[in-house]
Amino acid sequence: MAHSISIERTVHPKQKPAADQLGFGKYFTDHMFIMDYDAAKGWYDPRIVPYQPIVMDPAAKVFHYGQTVFEGLKAYRTADERILLFRPHRNFQRLNQSNDRLSIPPIDEDLALEALQQLVLADQDWIPSAEGTSLYIRPFVIATEAALGVNPSQQYQFIIILSPVGSYYKEGIKPVPIHVESHYVRAVAGGVGTAKTAGNYAAGLKAQEHASANGYSQVLWLDGVHRKYIEEVGSMNVFFRIGDTVVTPALNGSFLAGITRESVLQLLRHWNIPVEERTLSIDEIVEAHANGTLKEAFGTGTAAVISPIGELFWQGQALRIGEGQTGELSAKLYHTVTGIQKGTLEDPLEWMVDM
Ligand code: PMP
Repeated sequence: MAHSISIERTVHPKQKPAADQLGFGKYFTDHMFIMDYDAAKGWYDPRIVPYQPIVMDPAAKVFHYGQTVFEGLKAYRTADERILLFRPHRNFQRLNQSNDRLSIPPIDEDLALEALQQLVLADQDWIPSAEGTSLYIRPFVIATEAALGVNPSQQYQFIIILSPVGSYYKEGIKPVPIHVESHYVRAVAGGVGTAKTAGNYAAGLKAQEHASANGYSQVLWLDGVHRKYIEEVGSMNVFFRIGDTVVTPALNGSFLAGITRESVLQLLRHWNIPVEERTLSIDEIVEAHANGTLKEAFGTGTAAVISPIGELFWQGQALRIGEGQTGELSAKLYHTVTGIQKGTLEDPLEWMVDM
């Protein structure tokens, strides 16, 4: 069904940054998408407007009670100038799962996808083409009702902004050292860990700060109840190759169901590599390291795609994995997924949406 999305084009296009200046989430394009919600009217007035500040009442519920959710996905420019989106339907399905958890009304996923495509087309000149670059897409919802009662907002805005981003790996894919967190926890089953909501990220900053100060790039989160089962790493899901089997924590209700995680699992099964989704303790990893069966470890997420782990620091001990080098499977997954995303490899699992 065609939705009527109005477009107001900017009369002051911005200067675009040079490809080597991009970094992550520093520059924003010329336009944004906005749609409003009111309990009496439902979602209304979908529109593309010039990128601009949003004006909100200081009593807006998002500022006080964190009723907000977001998503993150990417558009890629191929060598033959096509624009490809990586599994955007999955992001809007997940947005609605997050909405449901935060008592935010659902958004029509087809309308959201159409809005996204029209916005990307309006700003298509902003999609970088250099190796490893892409256009990062950030849809989000905020509770805008000006009222301090602790109950679901009666008003919301759904907004999409776009940011050209640079290559995550400037000097090629490289393993990172990870601090296993033993003091703080990120989320518990029954909480909001499976939702992509702001509070989860604010709650993780302290541990991240501590890990960075000690020279680690991310935190490996353990479960909040037993304090021993592996959950995720920073804002990525995590995989281990133990012997010939690839193991990743089963979705248990306390961490995010990553779309890269799901895609990597599909690919591994497509390649007939044994995979297990199950509970996995840090003790099992320490043991596999000790007996030489821990071959590789890597995180998966939209930003880095595959992030090999070269070292885990746990209880005063540094466990080096794969001699600190990128493992064979990590490299193969990285090259395959990024090749499919950039349109240089075939897309056997039909992930890409050609705009
Ligand atoms: N866990 C968390 C907490 C995240 O924020 C993300 C990034 N969205 C992921 C995992 C990976 O998810 P995806 O593969 O969908 O980017």
